[in-house]
Amino acid sequence: ERGGYSKSTGIYFSTRPPFDIPQQPFLSFTQHIFAHRYGSKIALVDAPTGKTVTFDELEQQVMALASGLGSIGVCQGNTVILIAPNSILYPVVCFSVMAIGAVMTTVNYVNTPREIERQIKDSETRFIVTIPSIVMKVRRFGLPLLLIDEDGVSDYVSGPDDPPVFFLSKLLISDSSKVPSVKIRQEDTAALLYSSGTTGVSKGVIISHKNLISSALIMFSLPPKPDHEVMLCLLPMFHIYAFIHICANFSRATTSVVMPQFSLESMLQAVDRHRVTFLPIVPPVLLSLLKRKRESKYELSSSLRSVVCGAAPLAKDLIEDFMETYPGVHLLEAYGLTESTGAVTYMNEADALCIGSCGKLLANLKAKIVDIDTKKTLPPYGKGEIWLHGPSITQGYLKNVEATMATIDCEGWLHTGDLGFFNTDGYLFVVDRLKELIKYKSFQVAPAELEAVLVSHPEIIDAAVIPHPDEEAGEAPMAFVVRSPGSTLDEDKVAPYKKVRHVAFIDAIPKSPSGKILRKELIQLLYSKM
Ligand code: AMP
Repeated sequence: ERGGYSKSTGIYFSTRPPFDIPQQPFLSFTQHIFAHRYGSKIALVDAPTGKTVTFDELEQQVMALASGLGSIGVCQGNTVILIAPNSILYPVVCFSVMAIGAVMTTVNYVNTPREIERQIKDSETRFIVTIPSIVMKVRRFGLPLLLIDEDGVSDYVSGPDDPPVFFLSKLLISDSSKVPSVKIRQEDTAALLYSSGTTGVSKGVIISHKNLISSALIMFSLPPKPDHEVMLCLLPMFHIYAFIHICANFSRATTSVVMPQFSLESMLQAVDRHRVTFLPIVPPVLLSLLKRKRESKYELSSSLRSVVCGAAPLAKDLIEDFMETYPGVHLLEAYGLTESTGAVTYMNEADALCIGSCGKLLANLKAKIVDIDTKKTLPPYGKGEIWLHGPSITQGYLKNVEATMATIDCEGWLHTGDLGFFNTDGYLFVVDRLKELIKYKSFQVAPAELEAVLVSHPEIIDAAVIPHPDEEAGEAPMAFVVRSPGSTLDEDKVAPYKKVRHVAFIDAIPKSPSGKILRKELIQLLYSKM
């Protein structure tokens, strides 16, 4: 039927042509990407220095590091955590870990030691890969450290009680023919990416080799672009949004230009200098682009053809403003979750203009819109919870059957916790979030984590955290606090992007009979006072 909706089943099918996902039971993601043989094409560019890595060199580096990891004792099934800003070595580390059947977990490097420790324990991490400036924060965990010493230079001096330290520059010259021979099944875990899902604290989303292969191919299945694509990666690679774009680029010979740290000026310079054609961003970056244009007559480089915006809602007036300000650039929206290994809907340059939509379902994916009360599937324009099904959907959360069962049903449908609808042409509109999650500048903030910090304060009796609208950040955490007299908040206990930015005092937190915080009531209270 039109727009992919099947009335008889209540399912929305992708209208994009389906493709075959490799069927071999034993296939790792790295075998999959290196089967393409893109040779001397440029895979990676370091934005500040212009240093390049070809696809051949990338494979050589990944295999050498895989061999080096084996030599320092990283075994199949071991979890390795990467705590570092973006660099051209970031994907090399990730893929070499996966190449030997070990499991990659990534974390925001600005997280506090406490937050990192929680993830290390939960994921049963055995090795830490990090940069010298972060060592102080992580050596207390006593795990072997592998330091990214970019030019073979590191001023790290270990003390007598320190854990073993290895240097990446040394492992990168290992014999790449000595990669430990392991059999990796497509279903094996490749990565554990942390997300709070619909409720509670952050959990390890199990991403298999199959999930990565499928998701990279699904993005690749968009119609080919007319000429060579160059993508600028300014978003943090620890998050699925950037990570899956990098993975997809390696599947389709797109060059990825890597920016270690975001600043608007360096982004504009990098776009210009490296003739970037494609720029994935998040709403706060789009906002700053618009502000910049208003302040000065800066033009975007003529090379830039499309900007994709995802990970958080984008206001309609911003879209219109962008289209007016940069008429030569396609603004595309995409929608996805960590639990779906990234994008599930994506706008395409060839698609009809549909302002406010996140695009159509990507190939091989299915969706349902489910009425929140009746649980019945809804036809076009019916608003309900978005459910997703397909080869890129996670099997569940690590060691958390309860959260897995609450999120993925027995038929494999992922209940996203997002409210939305499809129109009759198959375009998805995400209208609200039913789940607790807050997105500050598109970074995940789990209210449950902040509530735990707040109530740990002796002068705070109870607390509830909700999203507060914020022009720049999209949303900012707001705490309703039941205080005992004279309370002060300890803001240093969480990473900077997770700080509570608004506080209101209240006599009691509204709760359901089962003790669940009634966040919607607090949100209504907030809006009634705005
Ligand atoms: P994450 O797992 O960090 O990628 O967060 C996934 C959540 O981000 C989704 O469940 C949505 O709530 C939100 N999100 C992602 N993309 C969009 C979008 N294009 N519009 C609105 N919300 C989005």
